[in-house]
Amino acid sequence: MEPKRAAVITYGCQMNKYESERIAGILVGLGYEITSQTHGADLILLNTCSIRDKAEQKVYSQLGQLKWLKRDNPDLIIGVCGCVAQQEGDRILQRVPQADLVFGPQNIPKLPALLAQVQTRRHQFSDLADNPLWDEQLFPMCRENPFQAWVTVMQGCDKFCTFCVVPYTRGREQSRPTAAITHEVQALAEQGYKEVTLLGQNIDSYGKRSPEGKDLADLLEMLHPIDGLERIRFITSHPRDFSEKLMRTVGTLEKVCEYVHLPVQSGSSAVLKRMHRGYTRDDYAFQVERLRALVPDVALSTDLIVGFPGESDDDFAQTLQLVEAVEFDSMYLFKYSPRPGTRAATFDDQVPDAVKSERFNTLIEVQEAIQLRRNRARIGRCEEVLVEGPSKKGSVQLTGRTRQNRPVNFVGHPSLTGSLVTVCIEKGGTHSLEGKVCTDRSDRGGED
Ligand code: SAM
Ligand code: SF4
Repeated sequence: MEPKRAAVITYGCQMNKYESERIAGILVGLGYEITSQTHGADLILLNTCSIRDKAEQKVYSQLGQLKWLKRDNPDLIIGVCGCVAQQEGDRILQRVPQADLVFGPQNIPKLPALLAQVQTRRHQFSDLADNPLWDEQLFPMCRENPFQAWVTVMQGCDKFCTFCVVPYTRGREQSRPTAAITHEVQALAEQGYKEVTLLGQNIDSYGKRSPEGKDLADLLEMLHPIDGLERIRFITSHPRDFSEKLMRTVGTLEKVCEYVHLPVQSGSSAVLKRMHRGYTRDDYAFQVERLRALVPDVALSTDLIVGFPGESDDDFAQTLQLVEAVEFDSMYLFKYSPRPGTRAATFDDQVPDAVKSERFNTLIEVQEAIQLRRNRARIGRCEEVLVEGPSKKGSVQLTGRTRQNRPVNFVGHPSLTGSLVTVCIEKGGTHSLEGKVCTDRSDRGGED
């Protein structure tokens, strides 16, 4: 008998990608073969994102297309999980009759029971219950990449920024015990993983309420000695919680990469206040100054929202000034999208779309010029690169990332995939670097 096939379609952030790998691991354990094709699949799970309206609309449009597959194969099971599932709940089942099952991010461990229930009952249902206990059962993850792994260290968020759905869809902060994380990373290193990225919506507050009394800096210290592990990254940091202790730890521990994602959201203190971010523009600038002093050659990326309710021309000018002063190495830029249930969605002075687009384009132009300048400044350096595989540019080109998370393309044999090489940088573009493999290992680590 042919094995049943399951397709897991992922939208949104790294947390969702991690959770899809976890879902795929559970499905493999249930005897499913994982496929990237929805055609011919026996089970299709959409792991969704609701951070912006566009992301949510994509899910509904994909569900609409799946209607035809269900018509051809009435035994097909269609499930919706992730943040749209948690937020929309039974509304999805009402709006999309072809969906069988809706479950929230906290209910992934229950997937075997949920699928059994679909198969026996064959009518639509949802499970959105809060599952406050962290489930420490380690499912056999089905990871996409054999040398870089995501590891969730905490879930949820307590911050309630006025624009954001995360605290509503993912609940309050919960940290995993250090022993469980260490055990998982140890096992990954034994399997040959070279790099781990620790994940949390607000990772700098790792351990805040945990009885162990260990914070993120302590956790990094615990993971650092693991044999075989070469690189440790962590995302996402919060400007309010990035402590000096953590900065010193990042600056001291060799395996912790010099890369920090520190979302600023706006350069205007007035807007930051309405966003409920808990810091001012000057606080942010102070954090960046301190970070650059304590972590030499650190690369800094950020998230920024344009068109938050009430954002004036002057507020936007302050954002432009901050971006020019800080000189981020990369930026994720978003147009504000009102989300149901969030405070900002009820604010007066929503900014017209045309203004959002204009500000978006202006900021992108400014940022691209900065990025080009900063990438060109890497020319002549030799950088440690973890090779990810063939680049999209052609078969002789490989691609990988530097410790500062810059993509680098270079000529090399595919057998280098998964290894650390030193690449001498010869060219810097807006979004990536180019270079050639350096055979002199003494150059590893860069030169000024
Ligand atoms: N926890 C992170 C932080 O505090 O910055 C960010 C998490 S969120 C998943 C990723 C990014 O999406 C945010 O930093 C923000 O820039 C953007 N975002 C969240 N809600 C948004 C909204 N309603 N409209 C536009 N962008 C939004
Ligand atoms: Fe959302 Fe703010 Fe929490 Fe980040 S810190 S996940 S933006 S509420």
